[in-house]
Amino acid sequence: MKELILAKYGEIALKGLNKNTFEDMLIKNIKRRLKPVGKFEYVRQQSTIYIDALDENTDLDAAIEKLRTVFGIACICRAGVFEKDFEKICEGTYEYLGDTLKYARTFKVEAKRADKRFPMKSPEICRELGGRILERFSHLSVDVKNPEVTVTVEIRDTNAYVHAVRVQGAGGLPVGSSGKAMLLVSGGIDSPVAGYMMAKRGIHISAVHFVSPPYTSERARIKVEQLCEKLTAYCGNISFFCVPFTEIQEAIKDNCPEEYFTVIMRRLMMEIAQQLSEKDDCLALITGESVGQVASQTLKAIACTDAVCRMPVFRPLIGMDKTEIIDISRKIDTFDISIQPYEDCCTVFTPKHPKTKPTKEEVEKAQNSFDFSEMIKKAVEETEIKLIKF
Ligand code: ATP
Ligand code: MG
Repeated sequence: MKELILAKYGEIALKGLNKNTFEDMLIKNIKRRLKPVGKFEYVRQQSTIYIDALDENTDLDAAIEKLRTVFGIACICRAGVFEKDFEKICEGTYEYLGDTLKYARTFKVEAKRADKRFPMKSPEICRELGGRILERFSHLSVDVKNPEVTVTVEIRDTNAYVHAVRVQGAGGLPVGSSGKAMLLVSGGIDSPVAGYMMAKRGIHISAVHFVSPPYTSERARIKVEQLCEKLTAYCGNISFFCVPFTEIQEAIKDNCPEEYFTVIMRRLMMEIAQQLSEKDDCLALITGESVGQVASQTLKAIACTDAVCRMPVFRPLIGMDKTEIIDISRKIDTFDISIQPYEDCCTVFTPKHPKTKPTKEEVEKAQNSFDFSEMIKKAVEETEIKLIKF
């Protein structure tokens, strides 16, 4: 029996004139994702992409697993393909969904008749097919409100499709459809989740990570690369920028008042991230900050950091609790890597009593105790770039 995958999109369907561009991008992302699984033919019609394996031995479950991480897809169904003939649809349904129906207690039928030439209207299809199923599987009863199984029949241009299982897609918009932004990624729990959230809105991610050897180890850097590798399942390829930050951090320590260390460091990180963004065509920065989580994330500290930013800074976790962030990190499988205990440069030279309510004037004055411009230039020049591939 012939089967294929229907990938249905949600938000793109509302995109009016730009819809084609979004669809093209989605199909491109899907193709890249399914390459390891096999060869497929793609047809788009009525807010659905029909994904048809060219080789009948292709593992469709593996394909569905891959599709679940593709942003832009609202839901995924594995469907039986039948001729547009009511008798054939009934026979096909018994055979295709037999096991599912055998073990269920309640069901309903939903019909969508996109091809209006089909002689039966949707309510009639539901009624007739529902009746036939009841005759065949006499243990079943109909429950229209809360059925265990919903048998969906779609009558479309060329064929009829029958399916009963819907897998939720990743939602959002196709990665790349909203431009590119630079994620400041640490080894912590938050920043990978922040990257995931912005990728979900169609943003293609590059990542910048600051290292301070020998205060931070090679292992800490590898951990961050592993986090980015995990993110590629959702975000596609990621350009990874690794910035040598030791000299700058030592200069902060030697020249600036201690209670301002962290906020000055964050301002310098933002400055370097912006310069790299300009080179890499990124239009915004992304961080994993959440109000009040640590001293550098009070409103006043964030305002001091933002004061040096010339581009928008997205903080998708800003209003979230740690528990909510952890739930997402588990879902995207970054949590177990994030909790490995390696040091981050943010924890090097942390002041005992950081200012939680700094003003911009104070911070500027503290930072101006030293001219960082040459060091910034050097750090940007010496940044290592690596492509982390999906
Ligand atoms: P995370 O869990 O993402 O590490 P956090 O709660 O530990 O966040 P901070 O250490 O204050 O908070 O860092 C705040 C944000 O600054 C991070 O979410 C990340 O975007 C950025 N950041 C921190 N350390 C680094 C680093 N070494 N390289 C790049 N960005 C960093
Ligand atoms: Mg951290």
